[in-house]
Amino acid sequence: MGNSDNENPYFARLQNAKKTRKWLLEQRGQKAAEALKKNAFDALYVDSLEAARTEILNRIPKGAKIGVGGSMTIRQTGVLDTLEKQGNVIYDHWKPGLSDEDVLKIRKAHLTCDVFLTSANAVTLEGALVSTDGIGNRVGAMTFGPNMVIVVAGVNKVVNDRESAFRRIKEVATPQVVRDMGLEVPCAVTGFCVDCNAPMRACRVTVILERKPFLSDIHVLIVGEDLGF
Ligand code: SF4
Repeated sequence: MGNSDNENPYFARLQNAKKTRKWLLEQRGQKAAEALKKNAFDALYVDSLEAARTEILNRIPKGAKIGVGGSMTIRQTGVLDTLEKQGNVIYDHWKPGLSDEDVLKIRKAHLTCDVFLTSANAVTLEGALVSTDGIGNRVGAMTFGPNMVIVVAGVNKVVNDRESAFRRIKEVATPQVVRDMGLEVPCAVTGFCVDCNAPMRACRVTVILERKPFLSDIHVLIVGEDLGF
């Protein structure tokens, strides 16, 4: 008996189901991008990570100093390698071997860089970006400082409204982030938020960008793929 996908009796239905899912996510991603535009963000839905990568690189001026938040999504795009090869200075506090002092300097540099690359924890269909930080350099830089901010979010981060965004942060994003970082907080062990008082509690600053702030230039790319946490 063969075992190729083509011999699966449900192959055609399964392929169709994939397309159907992609269709639904695209509808949601496009609706979120339209809502963001109404709130003065420069927003775009793109189908793939490759398309996102091209859009990011097209937006970055030559020689720009790049800040990068603690974002798995941005690392997944692969743009940091390209930018480094192009000679752009990159402020990346995830680089191995940095001292605590270096990491702090880099976090501060995020606030004054030319282009800040990051993700958000949730994007609502009402056109808002919702993010929670432990330190606040990411949400600070998203709000004011850099000449340009590029936010990249997989369509898995699109939620209906703010309440859903807060729930996503506590139920989906943070437990994965803290486990990945090895932080000693309850949700890193159980996967469930208990609104903890742990010394390493990661949820300390929540920022909702409900409209583009006056002096910021914020580009949001919603990508039709499952990215980041
Ligand atoms: S409040 Fe504590 S338990 Fe809840 S998501 Fe944040 S770090 Fe985890």
